[in-house]
Amino acid sequence: MLALGLGAGVPSAAGQTTPRARNVVLFIGDGVDDHQLTIARNYLLGADGEFVFEAFEHRAAAKVQTVLERDPRVPVYVGDSASGGTAIAAGVVTSRGRVATRAGTGEPVSTILEQAAAAGKRTGIVTTSSISDATPASFAAHVRRRWCQGPREMWPTPTDPRCPEDLKANGGLGSIAEQLAGSGIDVLLGGGYRYFDQPDEDGVSVLRRASDAGYRVVRDAAELVETSEVSGKLLGLFGDDTLPVEWVGEAGGRARPLQLTEWGQVIAPQPFGCVANPSFGTRPTLQAMTRAALTRLESAPDGFVLMVESASIDKQAHAGNPCGQIGETRALDEAVRTAVAFQETHPDTLILVSSDHGHSAQIVPWPSLFASRQDAQYPPGKVARLLTLEGGEMAVSYGTNTTYLEEHTGTQVPVYAQGPGAAAVRGLIRQSDLFGIVRRALALE
Ligand SMILES: [Zn+2]
Repeated sequence: MLALGLGAGVPSAAGQTTPRARNVVLFIGDGVDDHQLTIARNYLLGADGEFVFEAFEHRAAAKVQTVLERDPRVPVYVGDSASGGTAIAAGVVTSRGRVATRAGTGEPVSTILEQAAAAGKRTGIVTTSSISDATPASFAAHVRRRWCQGPREMWPTPTDPRCPEDLKANGGLGSIAEQLAGSGIDVLLGGGYRYFDQPDEDGVSVLRRASDAGYRVVRDAAELVETSEVSGKLLGLFGDDTLPVEWVGEAGGRARPLQLTEWGQVIAPQPFGCVANPSFGTRPTLQAMTRAALTRLESAPDGFVLMVESASIDKQAHAGNPCGQIGETRALDEAVRTAVAFQETHPDTLILVSSDHGHSAQIVPWPSLFASRQDAQYPPGKVARLLTLEGGEMAVSYGTNTTYLEEHTGTQVPVYAQGPGAAAVRGLIRQSDLFGIVRRALALE
């Protein structure tokens, strides 16, 4: 483990010194719970493996809490990225779909990035999703519904009331992209170009607004490297929406409904492995974006707060694509490694790794434990058999929605922490406690 606690200290009531963090790097694996982690770990590192963050000294389980929009006193047991992101970013339990606003009233709630900036720290957001998607937006924007990513998305659709109340003409803060362009956040890296390449209510493109506010806009990995020495605010938009994933299933392998013979017997699906996505293109990896953000933020005179999201673990789980989610979990681990290397030379950095909600994939026995019985039931949804890198075979089942995307699930999620202030991560906490843990570590309260 690293020698920690070298930063300035805060005297506690007992007269001891609580280590203070100068910097915080908060990782969110979207949709990551213990089961999703175990699937990726088994495949990549083997049954006895360990991701770098799983070796962190401090660990907790976090309760994912959400409430009803029409009556916020009533709990809801399955969250989404907007409610989970808001809990972590602002310490407030809200309803699904809300971005840093309170359930019922819509009142904006102050986020850790806003509070850190007000205290003189620099700030950054890195994601493999659209930078205006729910998780990153929860740290820097305030809007009623997560789908209001760009000016065009503010208007009601036949199935979604969207956010007309949040239009600037109606006294609101505008779409998420508009709010990000005016946020003053020092580094914004991800996808979502199409939400910025739109005219706002005054007919001025959001991209133009961003450059008027001092952002240099870059579009691919080479440009990101070229600007590493250039100071000032940076907006990297490396794709139109969600960025392409790093890995896919060999020969299109993914989870599929089981086929039966004409006599009703299960046909075992062909096992497959994972390969690099040939459509990955010129976008930087999550690790490259994390490294670029840390390089830019390193010189911050009063430290920084950086949020890094591996977004498509969730999106690939929705799609029943185990290789997609495994590759994006690998990307998360590599990005955390970059932060750990940074921490070795900057021991006053707190690293947190957590998640916004659980997901649907489960490791199941193949063949069934009850295969000898005539009436043995195999997984009722979709299933994939994966050949792991250590030479085993792992069956992954998705059984939460037979006709559309797989569902989020209501499990608690893990939290890992290393660095000054990490000792507060222990036992069973609320997801919303992470906000206070970061504030205390940075001495913002
Ligand atoms: Zn999701």
